Order: sequence, then C-alpha cells, then structure tokens
Amino acid sequence: MTATVRIAGGGVSGLATAALLASQGVAVEVFDRHVGGGGRFHGGWQVLDNGLPPCDALDELASLGLTGRPPVIPVHRAVFLDPLGGRHQVASREPYTYFLRRGGVGSLDAWLRDQALAAGATLREGCEAPPDAQVVATGPRRADGVAREIVFSSDLADTVMVLFDPAVTPSGYAYLFCLEGHATFGVAQVRRLRSLAGARDVAWARFRRELGDFQVRDRRESGQFMTFSPPPTLRATDGRWYVGEAAGIQHFLFGLGIRFALRSASLVAEGVLGRWDQERYERELRRPMLASVAMRWGYERLGPRAFRRLCRMASTRDFRELLLRAQRPSVARRALARVVMAAWADRPGSRGPLGGWHRRREAA
Ligand SMILES: Cc1cc2nc3c(=O)[nH]c(=O)nc-3n(C[C@H](O)[C@H](O)[C@H](O)COP(=O)(O)OP(=O)(O)OC[C@H]3O[C@@H](n4cnc5c(N)ncnc54)[C@H](O)[C@@H]3O)c2cc1C
Repeated sequence: MTATVRIAGGGVSGLATAALLASQGVAVEVFDRHVGGGGRFHGGWQVLDNGLPPCDALDELASLGLTGRPPVIPVHRAVFLDPLGGRHQVASREPYTYFLRRGGVGSLDAWLRDQALAAGATLREGCEAPPDAQVVATGPRRADGVAREIVFSSDLADTVMVLFDPAVTPSGYAYLFCLEGHATFGVAQVRRLRSLAGARDVAWARFRRELGDFQVRDRRESGQFMTFSPPPTLRATDGRWYVGEAAGIQHFLFGLGIRFALRSASLVAEGVLGRWDQERYERELRRPMLASVAMRWGYERLGPRAFRRLCRMASTRDFRELLLRAQRPSVARRALARVVMAAWADRPGSRGPLGGWHRRREAA
C-alpha cells in the first residue's frame, strides 16, 4: 500500500489505529482539532475494564500490537453506596479495573500518541479533519447517554466510590475517584437525560456526607455524551472505515468504551490492510455489545432493594470474577438483546452511517 491513510480524530481509537497501521509500514496522517491527544477530556480518571472476557486488559492491549505498558493504576477495591444508605466494600484478587487518565500529560491518549509518532505516523493537530478521511474516529455523534464530570485536585485519601441509586441517577450511576491527589466526580445516565444537573447536585452531597470535608482545587466541569449504536460491520457502503464511538462502539451498561474502542482500532487497521475479519468482529465486539444491551435491560428494572442486594452480593464475592461472569456473551443474552432492541428501536432514519441501531429517545 503506498497512498497515505488519513484518519479523522486523534482520540483513543484514531491514535491506536494510526499506531497499528504505521507499525506495519503504512503512511498515516491523523487530524485532531485539539493538541496533545484526548482533547475531549481534562485529565480525569477513567477505567480500563478488566472484568471483560476473555483475558486481562493489559495482555489484550499487547496482543492487539500496542507495545509497552500504558500509564495505569491497577485497582482491587471499591466502596459501593446503595440507595438505602448502605455502604459495601468490594474487592478482587486480580485488579477488576485499571485506572488511567484521559487527556493531557500522563494520559492514555498521550501514551497512544507517543506510540503513533514512534511508529512514524504524522499528526496534524489543532485543525479540523478533512471530510474525505478514509478512517473516521471522531468520537460520539449523538447523545444516547450523557455525563457531567468535575475534575479537581484534592487532599482526599485514595478513594473509589460508586453510588447506585435510581432515585438520584435514573438508569445511571455516580462516581468519585481520587488517586494520588487527582479526583474525578461524575454522573452518567442513558434515560431521563434532562435530570442530569439535579442528579449531579444530589450525588455530590451524598459523597460529601460519606467522605467528610475535602479540598476541591483547580475544579473543571464539563458535559459529555456517548453514542451507542452496535453496527453490523465497520465499513460503510462508501468504503470508509469507522472506529470507536464514531462507529457507535460502546458498552451500553456503564459506558466503558475504551477497551471496545481499542479492539475496533485493531479490526479496522486489519481491514485497511485488506484483512477484514467479520467473524472476529462478531466475536470480539458485536456479541459483547449485545450482552451489554441485555444487562442494561435488567439494570433498568432494579429497584432500591434489588440494588442493595446486588451491592451486598458483590461484597461477598471476588468482584472481578463476578464481572467476568456477568459480561460473558451467551446465546440467551443475544436472544434477549434482540427482543429488547426490537422494542426500543428508534426510527430507521436516525441510524448512523453504518446502519446500526439506536434506542428511541424519550418524549421531551
Ligand atoms: C464522562 C465520560 C466518562 C467516561 N468514562 C469511561 C471509563 O471510565 N471507561 C471507559 O472505558 N470509557 C469511558 N468513557 C467512554 C470513552 O471515553 C469513549 O468510549 C472513548 O474515548 C471513545 O474513543 P474514540 O476514539 O471513539 O473517541 P474520543 O476518545 O472521544 O476521540 C475523538 C477525537 O476526535 C476529535 N474530533 C472530533 N471531531 C473532529 C473533527 N471534525 N476534526 C478533528 N478532530 C475531531 C476529538 O477532538 C477527539 O480527540 C467515558 C466517556 C465519558 C463522556
């Protein structure tokens, strides 16, 4: 292949696609409107899900062809808050997640950016992507879920706390992570999107009650959204490749899209090289995404007592083992997802460029 491959968007999926292609000798140009990688984010914590089958997340990154270890902090413990005022310690022998920062120095994005540059990719930062780029990695394009985040510095001890309360975040959850003095508080929902600002205030008050007084310095607040639209494939009829959330690749239960975005990058890099593998796409992305639809259906049916029972159960088991079991795709989960998707389907005209599925919006 001699022509330069142009990639629109230099977030997780665009930079990973660039690194993987450039390392195989392909000339690559990445365009991003921000400078430094991960421009959509402000250095807040996100998690690289380590409870997703079939293997450890860092081993998977290596098997995709990304070299070295990303800047992550393995985490084995968390505190879950239930809707009835309960507090539950969960723990796992192997890390159930790897925390990493998004945007700026020391972030996953900066690490991927270095990999892409080292492999020989050219970055065009601070500019709009050309409309005819062959790979589209521009992130979410429609709000199938929304989030508000506050990133700040704090004197808080290391804390990983998650609140599950359908009265506060209907269909979602709230979190406060503080590691090494950097903190991220957020609320995320996929229904009742307009209630997000109120949810932020109530969840913040609950964390304050649980954790006592702590400093909030250099506070940055932002609103964000997520697109979930499991597509039948990653190549549009006009021949362009879509990767990450631009393709609708997301985890519909908790919005943990990073691991899926990296998998999609590897699949698309292979596709650009003429080695598209539809069966691998079904196995590694589409089936786990459908499993997440089935889990979401169940999640939205839980009341306060059921959340308390689930939090209690999580505190008596190995939490990573529990996640691995819960997220394993199965024929039953796929069948349930198909029924749920048929019931929740939006009108066909609102589908993305790949013809994926979207959930119907609530009436305003
Ligand atoms: C608040 C929040 C918290 C999250 N927490 C987690 C988490 O804990 N764990 C997890 O796994 N996932 C999490 N996610 C989801 C995860 O961040 C995304 O799934 C992931 O970043 C998707 O990667 P991407 O490459 O598709 O998009 P992005 O990483 O968003 O990259 C898109 C890039 O495209 C650029 N761009 C867009 N349009 C243009 C254009 N026209 N021209 C040039 N550049 C353009 C943007 O500047 C951006 O850099 C979270 C999402 C949000 C909103």
